[in-house]
Formats: sequence, C-alpha cells, structure tokens
Amino acid sequence: MHRFFLSTFTFLIFTIIILPSLIVRGLDMSAPAQSPLEEEAVGTIIKVFQVETGELVEMHLEDYIVGVVAAEMPAEFAEEALKAQAVAARTFVMRRLKVYGGQGCEAHPGADICTDPSHCQGWLSAEEQQQKWGLVNYPRLRDKLAGAVDLTAGLVITHGGELIDAPYHSTCGGHTEDAVQVWGQEIPYLVGVPCPYDFASPRYQEEVSYPLTEVAARLGTPVALPAAGGIGSGLDMAILEKSGTGRIIELEAGGKQFTGLEARERLGLKSTNFQWRLEGENLVFKTIGYGHGVGLCQYGANGMAQEGHTFREILQYYYTGVDIENLYE
Ligand SMILES: [Zn+2]
Ligand SMILES: [Zn+2]
Repeated sequence: MHRFFLSTFTFLIFTIIILPSLIVRGLDMSAPAQSPLEEEAVGTIIKVFQVETGELVEMHLEDYIVGVVAAEMPAEFAEEALKAQAVAARTFVMRRLKVYGGQGCEAHPGADICTDPSHCQGWLSAEEQQQKWGLVNYPRLRDKLAGAVDLTAGLVITHGGELIDAPYHSTCGGHTEDAVQVWGQEIPYLVGVPCPYDFASPRYQEEVSYPLTEVAARLGTPVALPAAGGIGSGLDMAILEKSGTGRIIELEAGGKQFTGLEARERLGLKSTNFQWRLEGENLVFKTIGYGHGVGLCQYGANGMAQEGHTFREILQYYYTGVDIENLYE
C-alpha cells in the first residue's frame, strides 16, 4: 500500500510537473537555452552613472535593460519591437563593459555606461517610470517591458562573431543612413535600407520657425542678403552636398561652411534631412525624421512588428548581415 502510494506520487509528479516542462522546452526552440551560463548573464553587474543624481550605481544587466527600454522606446509599442530594442540596448552596453575589454563611458570615469541618451543611452529608474506612465499604468507597462526583456535574456547582435555597435534612433523618415555619412567610417552592418514602416510616426516630419536674426545668431553668421535696389532681400544659404538618402552633408550660410550635423545642432533640428523657406522675416525649417538615422529605426521596428515580423527579422533588417546570439553559449 505504502509503495503503491509512493510510485503513484512519483508518477503524478512526473506527469504534472516534469513532463510538461520537457514538452515545453522540447517544442520551444526559439527560447534562449536554459543553462548555468544564462544565470551568469542575468547576474552580470554593470556600473551605471546616473546623470540626474551624479551617482555611480551598480545593477544587474537585465534590470538595467528594462530601464533602458522604458527610456528609449514608447511602452505602448508592439512586443516584438520592444524585444528588438532590448537586444539592441543589451548589445550596446555589452560592447562598453570594462570587464569584457570595453571602453566604458568616456565622459564618466569608472562607469560602464551613463544615462545621458545623447552620450550613451537613456535609462529610467522605477520612480521615473511611474512619473512617465502614471501610477495606474505603471504595473502593466512595467510587466510588459520586463517580459519583453526576459524573453530575450542574454541575446545580443553579432557580426563576424563580434558584438556590433548597435545605434538606434526614433524615426528615419523613409530610409536609414549609412554610418559613413554620419560618423565618417564605413561599417559593413550599418548600411542604409529603405524603411516603408515608419510613416505613422508622430515624428516623421516637423517644422520650426525662427526669425532671421535668430538663425544668424545660432549659425554665427548673417544669412540674409542686403536688399538689392530696395526690392526685398534674399538668403545666403545653400546646400553643398547631400547623401543619397537626402540628408545634408554640407551647407553654406553667410560665407561659412557647416556640416549637416553642425547645422542641425546649432539650429536645434530633429535631423539633418531638412529644407527651409523664407516667410516674411522668418525662416521655416522642415525636417524629415528624428535622429541620426543609422541602425535600428524604432518607429520602423514598431511598423514591422505590427505587420507580423519577429524581433529577429526586425534586427536583421536594420543591421545588415548580422546574427543574434546568446552571450553565454
Ligand atoms: Zn556616457
Ligand atoms: Zn524608419
């Protein structure tokens, strides 16, 4: 009787607990392998310099990634887009980790990475996430992002067996850009691709208007030509060179030359893909896209996800010829 009970008990344990887990693991080939090394991935500690507080804080890699996705991508985005962002963010930080021979954050000695989105990548603490989403939405969105990060735990993007540099941006505006046009260096996996997926982005196009005097102040040079014979005035501004995707490489204003990046920065524009027109005493700048345009287009990633593409397909679309690998296998 006693032995019968024990063997029944063992049989039940096997069918109720062990067998289902074997079936699930056996069938779900896309899930990251469960290994002691994966625990190591989750256990990786990184040193994050928090620009807002001036503190250097140590945290677990995967917890850090949740905060990055919260800062860098709208939480309402489709799950596969959030997963793609998580893998890009993980790759971005792993390349900088000092314990793996990375450079760390050059602006903050001792830190692997900082929370300045214009320097390293953005990151939000739990309190900042609550402020951003509101207390009512926070638990749901936090779970959604943590789930997306967890489903990609340990996954990174490689090219030729090396971690890639994984830049991303909000909205490319129809075509991503070659790295060489922005940073002056050819990078085989950062080559521009058509992006028919980001039209729905609220940042697809923007207009800003400045008085001519402010444009002159921002560029440090006069941009209005003196009135000729009392009949109106013209502009001393011209595009000298554009990239194949329409972004300005070089322009001339008031006898000075600027790179597209310099002009964008001085004028506070969303991208280097811009035009202008004179309206009275104002210069109206119309920009297409938001960000440098290199690598992953976030709104494009969301568009691809909504069309049914997986995070792997999204990443392999925006980063040319790359593989997705588990860090610790
Ligand atoms: Zn930094
Ligand atoms: Zn795009």
